[in-house]
Amino acid sequence: MKTVIGNWKMNVGVRESVALARGTLLTLRGRKVIPEVIICPPYVALSEVRKAVARSAVAVGAQNLFWEDHGAFTGETSARMLTELGVGFVLIGHSERRTHLGETDEMVNKKIVQALANQLVPIVCVGESTEQRAAQTQREHVRNQLIAAFTNVRMRGQHRILIAYEPVWAIGTGEVPEIGEVLAMHEFIRDVVSNIFGTDVSLQLEVLYGGSVDSENAYQFLRETQIDGVLVGGASVKLNHFKDIIDAASEVLEAQETKV
Ligand code: PEP
Repeated sequence: MKTVIGNWKMNVGVRESVALARGTLLTLRGRKVIPEVIICPPYVALSEVRKAVARSAVAVGAQNLFWEDHGAFTGETSARMLTELGVGFVLIGHSERRTHLGETDEMVNKKIVQALANQLVPIVCVGESTEQRAAQTQREHVRNQLIAAFTNVRMRGQHRILIAYEPVWAIGTGEVPEIGEVLAMHEFIRDVVSNIFGTDVSLQLEVLYGGSVDSENAYQFLRETQIDGVLVGGASVKLNHFKDIIDAASEVLEAQETKV
C-alpha cells in the first residue's frame, strides 16, 4: 500500500477546504487502484470536510490534539472530540509545532499515548534541522526523537503508527534530500523502532517521507518499496499538484499489481 497525506496547515478556510476535499474525492474516481489518501484540514474545517468525504475512500486527519480527555484547557481539542467527528488520523510532532509552539518530545509522547488510547492513528513527524544535518548528527537526533516519542507506549495488535521522516530543512523550501539519504534514514528508523518495540512492530511500521514533495518529485519517492507514502504540505492545497501525486502513487501500485 502507499499512503498520500495532505497537510493543509493554516492555508485554507472552511469553504476552500470543502472544495479541496470534494476535488480530491473526484480525482479518485475511475481509478483501478487507489492509494490511501488522508487529508488534514485546519480544525475549523474538520466537520465540514468529514461530511464532504463521508463514505468515501478519503480519510480525514487532524493536525494536532491535546493529551487530556477534557478539562480547563482553553483552545485545545481532545482525541475524543476528534473521533466524534469521524477523524481517524492525527499529525503529531510536526516541526512547525515544535518550532513555533514549543512542542517538546514529552508532549509528543503524551499525544501519541492519547491518540492510541482513542483509536486514532498517529502520524509521528521526526527529522533533523539544517544545523543537525551540517553537524552530521541527524541519526542521533531522529533516534532521540523516536525514543522520547515512544516512551511507555504500549503497542497492541490493533494499533497502527505512521512515522513521517521530514527533514526540517526540506519543509516548504523546495529542497529535497537525495533518495539514498531518505532510504538510509528510513532503514535507520525501522531499526530504532525495532529496538523499542521488537521486530514484529517494525516490520508493520509505515514510514513516509515528507518535505517539499511535489508533482515533479513524488514518483521518485513513491516508487521505492521502503517508502510507504508521502506527507505533502504546500502541494496538497493545489488540487492539480495533489492529483499528480496521487497519480504517481496509483501508478506505482498498478505496477506492483502487474508484477504479482
Ligand atoms: C509538511 O507540512 O509536513 C510538509 C512536508 O510541507 P511541504 O510539503 O510544504 O514541504
